Amino acid sequence: MNIGLLGGTFDPIHHGHLALARAAKERFDLGRIHFVPANVPPHKQSRAVTPYFHRYAMVVLATMGEKAFVPSVLEAPGVVTTPVSGAKGRPAKDEVSGANYSIDTVKRLKQSLKKIDLVFFLIGMDAFSEIAHWHQAEALFRECEFIVASRPGYSLADVANALPEKIRPPQSVSQPFAKQPATGDLVLRGATIHLLENVNQAVSATAIREAIVAKKPLRRFVDAAVEEYIKKEGLYLSR
Ligand code: ATP
Repeated sequence: MNIGLLGGTFDPIHHGHLALARAAKERFDLGRIHFVPANVPPHKQSRAVTPYFHRYAMVVLATMGEKAFVPSVLEAPGVVTTPVSGAKGRPAKDEVSGANYSIDTVKRLKQSLKKIDLVFFLIGMDAFSEIAHWHQAEALFRECEFIVASRPGYSLADVANALPEKIRPPQSVSQPFAKQPATGDLVLRGATIHLLENVNQAVSATAIREAIVAKKPLRRFVDAAVEEYIKKEGLYLSR
């Protein structure tokens, strides 16, 4: 079976996440997509994230109507994170203490799957543009195939350039294709990347949090049940 994994902060989960998952499910015949909220997202250290249990609850509510969408506790608090590898127990340069790294999550997911199952890592182009700086990025590409979705404000034509140096194709190979519509698959030694070019959701969790502070309606960004939960719990009322 083809299995998708969509990791994120989900603070809160919104239509952009769901549109990405639905489009990937259709195009790549994914039998299941695991939605994995990170307890400690390594790339969002600049602001305090909402407690894990609220973010997980909203993921449960938003995925309830879709049989193939599975809320996952693979990055829940208390799930063992890889011990930091830096000297004297301090994190190495690319590590955040206690953070959830995708390489560990994918490996943990694969332990519960059959050998013939194929894992696809779902990601938006904004996050993919930083992939070269992720912890053990090259190893992550070896563990699973990637599905990179378009996101307003970002170009899928930049996919090849965003790759870690060891995997990145030479400019002479990627340049002639730069002006063509970015579509199809990129099969390289060490990475297989599928482009998902029709996800066109101009929504972000940041914009939602701002809309709540400004007392603007949320319905076009999030599911009704998620909106209800945000209101009941009084989430995001202050920055
Ligand atoms: P924030 O605004 O707080 O940075 P976000 O809206 O980007 O959050 P995340 O939970 O960080 O949401 O995103 C999880 C994954 O979903 C990432 O791979 C991200 O690229 C992708 N994603 C989020 N929103 C969209 C969108 N509108 N279109 C396509 N992909 C998206």
